[in-house]
Parts: sequence; structure tokens; C-alpha cells
Amino acid sequence: MINVTKTFFPPIEEYVSQLKRIWANEWLTNRGELVLELEENLKDYLKVSNIILMTNGTIPLQIALKILGNQGEIITTPFSYVATTSAIIWENCKPVFVDIHPEYLTIDETKIEAAITDKTTCILATHVFGNPCNIEEIDRIAKKHNLKVIYDAAHSFAVRYKGKSVFEYGDVSTCSFHATKLFQTGEGGAVFCENESLRHKMFYSHNFGHNGPLEFHGLGINGKVSELHGAMGLAVLPHLDKILESRKNVVELYDLKLNFDKLNKLKIREGTYWNYSYYPVIFQNEEKLLLVQKKLNSHKIFPRRYFYPSLNNVPFLPKVTMPISDDIASRILCLPLSHDLVKKDIEMICQFINS
Ligand SMILES: *Cc1c(COP(=O)(O)O)cnc(C)c1O
Repeated sequence: MINVTKTFFPPIEEYVSQLKRIWANEWLTNRGELVLELEENLKDYLKVSNIILMTNGTIPLQIALKILGNQGEIITTPFSYVATTSAIIWENCKPVFVDIHPEYLTIDETKIEAAITDKTTCILATHVFGNPCNIEEIDRIAKKHNLKVIYDAAHSFAVRYKGKSVFEYGDVSTCSFHATKLFQTGEGGAVFCENESLRHKMFYSHNFGHNGPLEFHGLGINGKVSELHGAMGLAVLPHLDKILESRKNVVELYDLKLNFDKLNKLKIREGTYWNYSYYPVIFQNEEKLLLVQKKLNSHKIFPRRYFYPSLNNVPFLPKVTMPISDDIASRILCLPLSHDLVKKDIEMICQFINS
């Protein structure tokens, strides 16, 4: 069976040797030695100045929206994983969708200003498939209208844009370390925030608001990550360069073997050092997508319809039309991509699609 992705498991001895440190410390959570070490290693690896590890990639979105969203209107993309939209609603804010660019698949920055009202507080956009949004333009619009920018960078581990980590753009940037993501800690995630006072708010918010055992800075929730997750991260991170290299090879082989006469691929934004996190292909229509999906499934190959449906159609929201996102969502398919997908399987997948 070949799935859309495959979790990277580090050699078990490497994981066990990290676990032994936890047993020796007899310390399981509340920002223990392993979590602090993983934060330092990630800062080095990603070349970022700050990071706060959290339970997953959703809670930092919620915390950021709790602090910056102010129960207002949030301008957001309809083409993302459902967590981007549901975090907005969960925090009693209102998602206001702006359609996407047909090739970059990120929010169409030229349509943002028309969606701004006096209730707008934030722009929450996704660097979808690790492809950065038009960061400069979003930044300009946000400054002009006094809005905050939150990037859902769940797909963007190791992505660099114009010479620095993509996590260093926007007021807040979040990542997910879920088992299906490029870098995994089982469940896990992180938040990046350059502004010190905002980062401090996010920090105490993820630990019940604590300021020492008896005092509170403010309201908080529990977004802390355990040492068990830290151990997985410490065991996985040393393999990241190798993982990226093998994924790059898979992507290059797809690029070479697929016939793009009747198929489109993702356009990566200029200035991006990409992370080979997903391999989406866009068919001419949904019928062709379904035909290919059926054919691949019959050979136990399971691509995924990332992202379908377009989030403006989720059942817990009043429907609006987003012509480009609706159209793309109906005919985009993410092909299997992992560190150990072999050449013969890639060639077989390409052959099924081409024919
Ligand atoms: C995976 C994902 C999330 C949620 O991350 P979790 O760690 O699963 O909570 C949020 N946004 C996007 C775009 C994602 O792909």
C-alpha cells in the first residue's frame, strides 16, 4: 500500500536513548530538559531567533486569534486544511474568505482590500503546500489598515523565503509537527513571533496564564508539549537533511516523468527555497481526477484530495462562492510523496496518470 505520505520513524534505538533521559530525569512535562533542548536545536536548524513548542499546530492558531482576533472579522483563505477556518470560529471570530491565486494557490492578495471592513482585525493566510503567500503585499496592506497578520505555516517546515525562514514573517507564524507533516513529534507544533510582548502573551497563554505557581499574567489554556514528544523530535531532527534530499529526488522524478500537457502543477513563488512537502497536480476536470484516483486505488495507491472541499463549503458555515478555490479544490490531487518512495513506484504512478 502506498499512501499520500509516510511518517518518518527514526531508528528505534535513537528514540529509546532519548526516552532513557526522561526516565533518568523522572520529569515528563512542563517544559522539561528535552523540550528545551529541542527548541534550541530547532532554532539552530531553522535559523530562527525564537520558538515556543506546543501540543499541535491548531492551539497556537487559537491562542494567536484569541489575543489578536478580538472576536472580529478574520480575512482568510478557503484553500487550506479545515483547522485554519475552524480555529477562527472556535475563537468566536468570523472568517471572511478571499479567493486564491489560481497558480500559487495562496490567498489572492489583490482581493484582500475589498474584503476589509471596520470589524476586520487580522489576516490569517496559509503558506499552502509550503508555498509562501505574497508576504510583501500582505504586509503592506496590513500596515495600511492596521491589521495583524497570522501565517498558518503548518506545511512550511524548513522553507526559506528571500534569505530567511518563512516562520519569521508576519506577526505570528505557526507550524504543525503532526505525524503526517514533514517534521514530526507524533503530535506537536510551534509558534514563532518576533515581537517580544506578543510572544510573552502567547507563552503564558499556553501554560494556563501562569506567572509562577501562585500568580497569573492573564487567561490561559494548556498548550504544553510533553517530554515524550520532545524525545521523538530530538530523534527525528538529525535525519531532516536526508529526508529533504530523498523527497527532492521524488519530486524531481515526478517532474520528469509526468506529462504536463493536460496537467498543471503548483507554481512556487520566486525567492523560495521550498521543502518538497506535497506534490499536488491539477487535472483538467474532476472527472479525470476521479478516474485517476480510482485507477490508483485499484493498485493500492492512495493519493489524497488536499484540499477538498474548499473551506467556504464546510457544513458549519453559511455557503459563499469562491470561484477559483471551488474550481481548484474539485480537480487537485496530492500524489504520494515520502522519504522512501522508490523509483519503480513513482514511474508506475506516472504511467497510470499519463495514460
Ligand atoms: C496540519 C494542519 C494544521 C493543524 O495542525 P495539527 O498539528 O494537526 O493541529 C493546521 N493548518 C494546516 C494548513 C494544516 O495542514
